[in-house]
Amino acid sequence: MAPQLGGRARQVNWGHLELDNGQHILTGACTHTLSLMSLVGADPETVLYRTPLQFTTPSGRMAPWLAHPGRWQRLMGLLSCSMLNWRERWAWLQCIVQLQWSRPASWHGKTAADWLAMNAHWTVQPWLEALCVSAMNLPASQADATVFLNLMQTSFESPQASDLLLPKVSLSELLPHRAADWLRARGAQVQLGQRITDLNPLLDTGRVVLACSAQEAARLSSGLSPEWSDMAQHIEHGPIATVYTRWSGSAPQLMDPLVIMPPGLDSPAQVVMDLGCLRASPQYGGIWSWVISFAQVDREEAARLVLQQAQSVWGRQPEVVACFLDPRATILCRPGLKRPGHHVGPGVWACGDYVESDLPSTLEGAIRSGLQVIEAIQSH
Ligand SMILES: Cc1cc2nc3c(=O)[nH]c(=O)nc-3n(C[C@H](O)[C@H](O)[C@H](O)COP(=O)(O)OP(=O)(O)OC[C@H]3O[C@@H](n4cnc5c(N)ncnc54)[C@H](O)[C@@H]3O)c2cc1C
Repeated sequence: MAPQLGGRARQVNWGHLELDNGQHILTGACTHTLSLMSLVGADPETVLYRTPLQFTTPSGRMAPWLAHPGRWQRLMGLLSCSMLNWRERWAWLQCIVQLQWSRPASWHGKTAADWLAMNAHWTVQPWLEALCVSAMNLPASQADATVFLNLMQTSFESPQASDLLLPKVSLSELLPHRAADWLRARGAQVQLGQRITDLNPLLDTGRVVLACSAQEAARLSSGLSPEWSDMAQHIEHGPIATVYTRWSGSAPQLMDPLVIMPPGLDSPAQVVMDLGCLRASPQYGGIWSWVISFAQVDREEAARLVLQQAQSVWGRQPEVVACFLDPRATILCRPGLKRPGHHVGPGVWACGDYVESDLPSTLEGAIRSGLQVIEAIQSH
């Protein structure tokens, strides 16, 4: 439908800058995304910046022991971490063990905050709450505990899985352009700017896969499968705002290209990224992206709050370059959410980040969903 590829993860040309419609973050646990990138010739090691998750804040790395490459080294790193007192070291250890042993299914109907209250000491809770809102686009008090636990378990199943992977190129260059070239080279037709308005003419052509938003899939399938359509129609979505700013003069030095902002009332953005460190071209020097997950403000207010946040943390304000707000950025995985399955009706399947999954609404979730549909069609 759109005139360009990428959907909710696409490049936006902004003057001479190639920005994205929203800052995206991958992790080492996004194994299917990384495999797909390799398949279509986008080398993940070249186009992504890999950095260990160390809960880096503007004042330092709060969990440097997470940078160790093996489980035992991590454990030794934690036990000898001089930044933490013994109580905090014990709290982290206990929480990681609980994370591994918790059975997500047994938390059905509960929130991530319920799990944290039972299993994470108050010194550890803010860090996992920060991961929750960034990954699920919902505060822990509203996020489904089972999806949260699935996500945490995959993210901590190996030391590399928790690594952050930050795009060094625009989102369109990261995957969609390569994928389209790969498809064309194999004889496929990629047609842009054409909205499918009716499924009926397609049903005779063979198998149809709806790889669009929940809302569009609901509309297209309403005649074919009203129950499926109804479920897709009722999926709730939530907003994410990304504010791009530029520092005049030298930008404050960050320890890592991504920092987690201390939570608080005057702290709307949960994460800040330094594009100057990530992009090769000098024109990105001093440009930062500020991500406001579950943004409850409009674009102007988002920009204003980010400037206020910069002032309170760094004592000065950058200028706003651009501000994007997608009101339907991700689905909201609240407890009890019902997501439709892959099979819509005779000859019709659906894939996307909203389809039944144990993952939140992410690129990895969308790609896994596509692979599951291919498998289902092949075995049908
Ligand atoms: C601001 C923002 C920040 C995000 N941050 C992250 C992040 O950090 N990490 C992460 O993993 N995920 C993130 N996400 C979520 C991620 O972008 C989505 O989960 C993912 O793009 C979903 O892919 P999809 O293929 O399911 O749907 P989409 O990307 O929405 O693609 C659907 C496509 O279908 C097309 N289409 C719709 N209707 C029709 C029609 N009738 N006919 C033809 N074509 C149609 C659309 O034009 C679009 O190209 C973020 C999203 C946003 C908006």
